[in-house]
Formats: sequence, structure tokens, C-alpha cells
Amino acid sequence: MTQVCDRIDRCRQFRTDDDALPAEAVELARELLEEATRGQSLAERLQARQMAAMMHDAPGKAFTFAMADQVFRAPTAAREAKRFRDLVDDYGVPEYLPLAARVAMRVGGIASAAAPEIVMPLVAEKMRQESASVILPAEEKKLRRHLIRRREAGMRMNLNQLGEAVMGEEEARHRLEANIARLADPDTDYISVKISAIFSQIHLVALDETLLAIKDRLRLLYRAAMTAWPVKFVNLDMEEYRDLRLTCTAFRELLDEPEFRKLEAGIVLQAYLPDAWPVQRELNTWAIRRVDAGGAAIKIRIVKGANLAMEKVDAETHDWPLAPYGSKVEVDANFKRMLHEGCRPENTRAVRLGVASHNLFDIAYGLLLRAREGVEDRVEFEMLEGMANHQARTVRDAAKGLLLYAPVVKREDFHSAIAYLVRRLDENTSPENFLHDLFGMKPGDAA
Ligand SMILES: Cc1cc2nc3c(=O)[nH]c(=O)nc-3n(C[C@H](O)[C@H](O)[C@H](O)COP(=O)(O)OP(=O)(O)OC[C@H]3O[C@@H](n4cnc5c(N)ncnc54)[C@H](O)[C@@H]3O)c2cc1C
Repeated sequence: MTQVCDRIDRCRQFRTDDDALPAEAVELARELLEEATRGQSLAERLQARQMAAMMHDAPGKAFTFAMADQVFRAPTAAREAKRFRDLVDDYGVPEYLPLAARVAMRVGGIASAAAPEIVMPLVAEKMRQESASVILPAEEKKLRRHLIRRREAGMRMNLNQLGEAVMGEEEARHRLEANIARLADPDTDYISVKISAIFSQIHLVALDETLLAIKDRLRLLYRAAMTAWPVKFVNLDMEEYRDLRLTCTAFRELLDEPEFRKLEAGIVLQAYLPDAWPVQRELNTWAIRRVDAGGAAIKIRIVKGANLAMEKVDAETHDWPLAPYGSKVEVDANFKRMLHEGCRPENTRAVRLGVASHNLFDIAYGLLLRAREGVEDRVEFEMLEGMANHQARTVRDAAKGLLLYAPVVKREDFHSAIAYLVRRLDENTSPENFLHDLFGMKPGDAA
């Protein structure tokens, strides 16, 4: 860690210029990777080896996707079992799995024909266990234990309450109530929620009505956050492009209400949208005015964007242009442009920045930039729970803190975690993505 800290210190002291910053970031990324690899536990090494093997096992990868996405949507155990066996027939048992797991899968496939009610809950339990490192159980005792462990390890937690699919208002109200209850929990101090989880009837042709309804729901959340002691933090996650302007307008209009002038709240912007940078600048200008008028600062988390596949389907089915950029390199460039915008001291005064990424090159770039600009106390790093814990520990040490984002789900709602799992699998396996290569990456190799 000394090398890492020295490089960041040098950047702070000598104010490395823009031209030299990329090369410095590449060096720092190498050092971070070496540091992370050194600190990897045996269990993490074995898991990483399995992940790396999955990347080179195309049918195994396809099977894993289909398994997460399709098997547990069926209404009966017999239908689940049939789908499970069909997938094994279509793809074969994944070769990347250890021998014992492959044998168990073969035996399970055969047994599921005779006793689906016994076998399928066991298969579901296995899936739950396998994903327990990325999706936390909402049950109080288990969650509390985990939160305490993370706090002791110097990581703050940002919880996202998953639940049943929000198809109607009853479910949306349930989810809102679950979030309000989460804010009342003394172990929770930070939550993330997206507007489509708390309101089911988002219609852009009925913009005013939609906005009113969203603000009504968010008002309840903000009040719950403000009346808690200590005050809690509510962040608005971003999902579809459709929701960008709507979420921003609701966010700004609510925080302009006298009741919420002193509340610090957050919002996410997705760098894969060309619109994100202009929106960031608008938010910065508005937030500076708010702070100058005696209001609280806000926070913006920048991410690249997790819904590329869905935006592509949307664009194709409607014959619209694709909302996100069409290439990874443009997205990476926009992310850096937004980092620069977010690290300018005149902006950080009113807008704290969250840099959410697993890409060590971008994290390194962000670490150096915030040091150079002297805004380290206003720019924090955020990662996903369980995606690459060895990497997270290293970033925590280099950044002097880390915010970990974790979805929580009740046992009975586990099926609703599938969309999240599939998105994470997609991120891990898309060839242009950093996590695709991380698990086998060595300093200096092609990846
Ligand atoms: C703490 C945290 C919170 C998050 N919250 C949100 C959220 O609220 N909303 C949200 O949408 N996402 C969210 N994400 C996910 C995030 O958007 C990214 O999907 C994820 O972090 C991968 O990006 P990366 O920088 O880690 O890795 P990288 O591998 O550098 O980038 C991968 C990303 O690049 C983009 N990309 C890849 N290939 C292409 C291509 N061919 N064309 C265009 N773009 C491409 C995609 O956005 C892809 O996710 C969050 C991530 C973290 C760590």
C-alpha cells in the first residue's frame, strides 16, 4: 500500500497535469491490482478461478444465465424441474464447475423428475447460498451481523431493498413501506431506491400526474430520513433512460421545498448516456445556488450504466436511436469527463461525488484526480457488495474509506433478486467489461 499512497501523495503535491494523468493512472491501477491480489484469501482465489473458468466456458456461461433467469419463474415445482432438466439437456452440465457440483447437478436432474417438490427447493437453496455474497438476507439478525462486520472493516453500507416485481400500486406501496421501515432501522444509515420501485404508473405522456405521484412518495421517504436520528441518507438510483429527466425533476423540485432545504440527498447519473454530462452540469449549477442560499449540499453518484441490454431492446422494438453511446470507449471517456466535472472544487463545495466503478483504471484515475484537486473529503468511492471483495479492500485502503452497495432481500422474495443477479452476471461476462478480465488479470498482460 505504501507505493499506492506515495503515488497519490505525489499527485497531490506536484499537481500532475492532465497530459500525465492517464499514464500515472495506469501505473496506479497496476499497483492496486498487485495489492489486491496479495490480499486475496484462499476462498476468494478459488472463487476467482471458477469465475475465470466460466468466462472461457461459453455453454456453461449460457447455462448459468438461463438457470438464474428462467428456472425459478415457473409456477410449480414440476414445471421448474422440467425447465431445469431441459437446460441441462440443451447446454450440458457446466464444465467450469468443480466435479462435486457437476455430479450433484446430474443427480439432481434425474431426481427432479421423480420428486420435484423435494429437489427444486434444494436447488433454490443452493442458488440462494451461492448468491448470498452479493445479495444480503433481509432477516434482521443475519443482516445486522453482516453490517457490523462491514462497519468494523471500515466500510459503510448502502442498502437497496429488493422485493416483488412492481407491477401495480399495491406492490409499489409495499416497497415504499419496506423502505420507510428500513430507514427506521438503527443499523441502516444509507439507502438507495429507484422511482420505478415506489410508483408503478410512470407515464411520460401524463408527466404532471406522474411527477406529482412520485414526489408524494419521495416526500414520505425524505421525511422518514430526516426525522430519524442520526439523519439517514436517501439516494435515487437510475435505471431506464426514460426515468432520467423525471427523476432529476422530482429530486430538484422536492429539495427546493422549504421542508427539505437542509436535507442532503443523492442521485445517480449514468455516463453511458450522452445526456448525463449536461444534466450533471445543470445539477451542479442548481446545487451551488441552493448552498449559497443556505441549503444543504447534494450528492451525485456517477456510474457507467447497467441497463445497456434493455435500452438496446427498447430502441430496436420502437425503432428509436439507442439512448446510450454505441461504444465502450465513448462511455469510458464520458465517465472521465464527468469525473473531471465532479472533482472541480467549485462544484464539490455543493455536490459531493460518488465514483462507483469496479474498473481499477477508472478508480485509479479518480483517486489521482481528487488528490490533485484537493477534494478528497468530497469525493468517495463506491463498489458493489461481493463482486470482488479483495479489490474492494484495496480500494478502501487507498481511498481511506469505501461505500458498499448491497441489495437486501427477504427469503420469500428471493425470486425478485433474479433481475439483479442477471445484471451482475451480464457485467461479469460481457467481453468489454473490466470484471470479465479481472479474475485472471495480471499486471502487464493483454487484458
Ligand atoms: C456502487 C455502484 C452503484 C451502482 N448503481 C447503479 C445505478 O444506480 N444505475 C445503473 O445503471 N448502474 C449502477 N451501477 C452499475 C454500473 O452502471 C456499471 O454497470 C458497473 O459498475 C460496471 O461498470 P464499471 O465501471 O465497473 O466497469 P467497466 O467494465 O469499465 O464498464 C462496464 C460498463 O461499460 C458500458 N459498456 C460496456 N460495453 C459497452 C458497449 N459496447 N457500448 C456502450 N457501453 C458499454 C456499460 O455501461 C457497462 O456496464 C452501479 C455500480 C456500482 C459499483
